[in-house]
Amino acid sequence: MKEIFLLKLGEIVLKGANKRQFEDKLRQNVRRRMKPYGNFDVYIMQSTVYVEPMDDEADVDGAWEACRCIFGLVSLCRCRACEKDLDSIFETVEAYLGDDLDCAASFKVESKRSDKSFPLTSIGISQEIGGRLAEAHPDCAVDVHNPAYTVYVEVRDLAAYVHGPAVPGAGGLPTGVGGRAMCLLSGGIDSPVAAYMLAKRGVEIECVHFFSYPYTSQLAKDKVLELARLVTKYCGRMTVNVVSFTQIQEAIRDNCPEEYFTLIMRRFMMEISQRIAKDDGCGALITGENLGQVASQTMQAMAVTGAVVDIPIFMPLVGMDKEEIITIARKIGTLETSILPYEDCCTVFTPKHPKTKPTLGQVQHAEKGLDREALIQEALASVEKITVKYDDAPLL
Ligand code: ATP
Ligand code: MG
Repeated sequence: MKEIFLLKLGEIVLKGANKRQFEDKLRQNVRRRMKPYGNFDVYIMQSTVYVEPMDDEADVDGAWEACRCIFGLVSLCRCRACEKDLDSIFETVEAYLGDDLDCAASFKVESKRSDKSFPLTSIGISQEIGGRLAEAHPDCAVDVHNPAYTVYVEVRDLAAYVHGPAVPGAGGLPTGVGGRAMCLLSGGIDSPVAAYMLAKRGVEIECVHFFSYPYTSQLAKDKVLELARLVTKYCGRMTVNVVSFTQIQEAIRDNCPEEYFTLIMRRFMMEISQRIAKDDGCGALITGENLGQVASQTMQAMAVTGAVVDIPIFMPLVGMDKEEIITIARKIGTLETSILPYEDCCTVFTPKHPKTKPTLGQVQHAEKGLDREALIQEALASVEKITVKYDDAPLL
């Protein structure tokens, strides 16, 4: 019989009245993510998502890898379905997991029976199948306390399923159940991790990137689009709004005191991001800010930059150490691209002595010489909306 996946639901099972809505979203997400891999049937029963290839053309290995990155799932089992009788179960375990048992020093069988009409209890199934397996694999000892390998048998409504150890799922909540937010995506290490962390909490992600051609290169922009593509492995396709920031940066350079350059620039980023966010139905902004990391990330600086925004600003990395952030970047596969040496617009016109404890009054005074609204309108008119998805070709 063919291989199918059983994907176990995470926190969703704790949801009360909203459970149905969460499950619908998850089913939709899994369906969409399976599309590039062929024809799969996806359905939810008994707190489990079933993913079943419908023909021999389906790319089961590709689909399996994709499932490992879908939020809302705690564990994934690749299994084989069979008839709900002991002979079929035993034969299926032999055919599917026999080689694994031959390589293991010891084993046990763990069974679950959610179909209560099945004549044996869970323990009865484990004893019966375990006994037969012990006879068939005399070099693999039974060890119910500390086995090297565990065979799982699940007798469910539609069929019996056998599998080896489950692998951990991506965790979190299904993308989309937590609303939609706009992530300010730079080419650095932090912001892709911030996008991933909110996506993990069920938030649908859209991105905005500010670039300052010719002060920053086409490569710097490609790097950011590539980072976005890498994050879509987890959050599904997304839109990246690319905003030309050159004019604003030049206006700041020409009209404002140097020590406020970065702060004023960041206030523009925030305000423009919020306008695009509101147009696109995003309820919050996300940044990769991290308390104390650089001059513009002190409490006072954050207050000044946040003052232009009236929707929540999520900063999921605010209290983390750099090492912790790097560990996540490495795990999700963005680190290598983030550390490529193409410059970000934040490094253009950086002040020698940035103000670390600004007040709002000081910054408003420092930006007096600018026609903020005109500059914002001009930047908004430059927005290029680019759709990014994981099966696009890598950009770098
Ligand atoms: P990152 O590693 O994400 O670049 P960082 O430590 O370099 O962060 P900053 O340069 O101060 O810190 O940027 C703080 C946050 O502002 C970033 O995490 C990101 O959310 C946003 N940001 C910075 N530069 C840009 C940009 N060019 N376009 C969009 N957002 C940006
Ligand atoms: Mg940066």
